Amino acid sequence: MTKTIFQKIIDREVPSKILFEDDKCIVIEDIAPKAPIHLLVIPKKPIKKLSEVKPGDKNLLGHLMIVISEITKELNIEDAFNIIINNGKEAGQTVFHLHIHILAGKNFSGFFPG
Ligand code: 5GP
Repeated sequence: MTKTIFQKIIDREVPSKILFEDDKCIVIEDIAPKAPIHLLVIPKKPIKKLSEVKPGDKNLLGHLMIVISEITKELNIEDAFNIIINNGKEAGQTVFHLHIHILAGKNFSGFFPG
């Protein structure tokens, strides 16, 4: 199966600005930022999309949230950021390797529900 761009970044076949990495995930800067800070949190496990996660992925998904909490603190954006997961082509997903967008420095109120 052909590797996604994110798998190539994880495998160091494609360069990327890596902000954080551990055994379970990688955090990189988005190549086409939609906000002053636009990061992608990518699990190393090649899950295609959120709707394909299994109960066994519970710890991994929790871990991603902890990493988001820690990295946003490090960047001093802990009081103002949005996270988004695009699930499926119709919802705007373009890379079919699960990832969480972290967006900060832009006010998206009125765009996201709430
Ligand atoms: P999606 O639309 O699937 O939710 O998000 C994919 C994201 O990956 C987009 O925001 C896009 O800009 C980003 N992206 C695509 N190719 C690359 C790449 O080669 N490097 C990095 N750092 N980001 C990428």
